[in-house]
Parts: sequence; C-alpha cells; structure tokens
Amino acid sequence: MSLDLKSLVRTIPDYPKKGILFRDITTLIEHPEGFRESVERIAAGYRGEGITHVAGIEARGFIFGAGVAIALGAGFVPVRKKGKLPGETIGQNYALEYGVDTIEIHADVVGPLHKVLLVDDLIATGGTAIAAVGLLRRTGAVCDDAAFVIDLPDIGGAAKLKAEGVTVSALMA
Ligand code: 5GP
Repeated sequence: MSLDLKSLVRTIPDYPKKGILFRDITTLIEHPEGFRESVERIAAGYRGEGITHVAGIEARGFIFGAGVAIALGAGFVPVRKKGKLPGETIGQNYALEYGVDTIEIHADVVGPLHKVLLVDDLIATGGTAIAAVGLLRRTGAVCDDAAFVIDLPDIGGAAKLKAEGVTVSALMA
C-alpha cells in the first residue's frame, strides 16, 4: 500500500499565533520514505514537460524544491526574502495580513528560454505564490506550473493562482 503522506504532517494549534492551526511538515521530512515519496510524487507530475528550473520559496520551499529539481534534472532557483541574495536582484512586494513583504530572485537567473516550476510546502491565501509567479514571469521565463505539498482549499489561494493561468497541483489538502 502506498504511504499515507498526510498522516505524517502534524497540526500545531496556536502557532505562530493564537487561533492558527499550523501544518508542520518537519514530521514529514524527518521520515525518510515520507520525504522521498513527497519529492518523487511532485516530480512525477512534471517529467517530460521541459522544466528547466525549479523555483523554491524560502524557506520550506527550498527543502522540497531542491529535491524536485534533482529528480527532474533541472536547476534550482531560490526565491528569497528581501536582502538575502548577494547578486543583482529583482523583487516583488506582496500583501501580508498586516503589512507588506518582498521576495527576490537574482536578476539574471532565468529568462525567456526557461520553463520554471514553482514549488512550496503550502498554499493558503496564494499571496506568496502569486508574487513569485509574477516575479519569475517578469524575467521572460514561462512559469505556468506550481506544485505544493499542502493546499488549504478553503482559503482559496489555489483558485486565485489558477486564475493567473497557472496549473496547480498539491499532494494533499
Ligand atoms: P500564503 O501566501 O499562500 O497565504 O501562505 C503560504 C506561505 O506561508 C508559504 O510560504 C508557507 O510556507 C507559509 N505558511 C502559511 N501557513 C502555513 C502552515 O500552516 N504551515 C506551513 N508549513 N507553512 C505555512
């Protein structure tokens, strides 16, 4: 029988603040088969699709995204919080519940010849992923695919990302 990946994700109440049920993927990645299966199931959806780069969103998107990049024989692009990348960057602001945040990529990392798969651990409002897709597309790269370990469909982020022309997949809801 195939591994029940969802049973390996634990839910922590009141983190990072009261009222939030945080989906903790550390229990999934500490499980050797759980981690390998997660990466392999994401990668299986994109084999033969011409993905040249996997872009992972800081920080948990790095964990899964790096594995998927290796599995697909693609390069890895870190999408980082403002001020963390050493070279010339381009950035994109996005709204948080209170305030604004900025993500950045190196300006020369991808361009019109590239097809990028976005990977993150979880999509909730979709704000982070929509900003990342917009940023990657500004380089001229094709970014029409996004994969998540967890989708929280009641919050509606995946639907918003689809409305941007992105095909969205997730291993569990
Ligand atoms: P969104 O921008 O879709 O509202 O939030 C998604 C981002 O916040 C992702 O980068 C994800 O890592 C993080 N995030 C929000 N809620 C959770 C959660 O419950 N568990 C985990 N692991 N990440 C979360």
